[in-house]
Amino acid sequence: MQAHRKIIIAIDGFSSSGKSTMARRLASAIGYRYIDSGAMYRAVTLYALDNGMVDDDGKLHESEIIESLPCIKVDFEVQPDGTQHTVLNGIDVEKEIRRLRVSNVVSPVAAIPEVRHALVAMQKALGKERGIVMDGRDIGTVVFSDAELKVFVDASAETRAQRRFKELLEKGSAVSYEDVLANVVHRDHIDSTREESPLRKADDAISIDNSNMTIDEQDAWLMEQFNKVVKA
Ligand code: C5P
Repeated sequence: MQAHRKIIIAIDGFSSSGKSTMARRLASAIGYRYIDSGAMYRAVTLYALDNGMVDDDGKLHESEIIESLPCIKVDFEVQPDGTQHTVLNGIDVEKEIRRLRVSNVVSPVAAIPEVRHALVAMQKALGKERGIVMDGRDIGTVVFSDAELKVFVDASAETRAQRRFKELLEKGSAVSYEDVLANVVHRDHIDSTREESPLRKADDAISIDNSNMTIDEQDAWLMEQFNKVVKA
């Protein structure tokens, strides 16, 4: 098979739209690196929570969070089964960052411009060699505005909350569907209305609504888009 040029694939969309699943599976099928940029915002949020920078009512100690950015190191570690775990200052935090405790305050943390600048710089560095699939909210608009393939994923809020609820239950979290739906809607609102790089579809992104699609259908659709770009 002829080796194709390596490209950057940016997958953005609303919370729990299934973009990570799509991105991860495509990366594995084509031998690219997958980066979950949301995990980086979640790791910074976990650091803030564990270091007393978030009050019980959710109020952030913004200046403390900004000052501690140079002390926060986020890495990804590939597991024997091929999945990746998020590592915060040398500690595997993959489980902790997915909890509702983190989800509930990650969007306000991600709206702090200094946090975004620091993480966007790390994300850009990760894409230097190309051959990467990154998912998030501003990948096609800000991080890799030159990505060769940009996808914007959407699904109804109820479908997304249902998926997330199922995922959390399977992981053993005691959560209610109503709390998960409220969190999804709340995060969408903050992510789309923040001043610094709000969530929006890049003008040159292809949209997909996967509310009624199976994972296999999604995979096939995305592979078709990838092939169109690399074979063009
Ligand atoms: O993708 P995930 O839902 O795990 O992301 C968690 C949060 O991180 C999002 O709700 C959003 O506030 C923030 N985020 C962001 N920009 C990205 C990725 C995630 O602001 N590129």
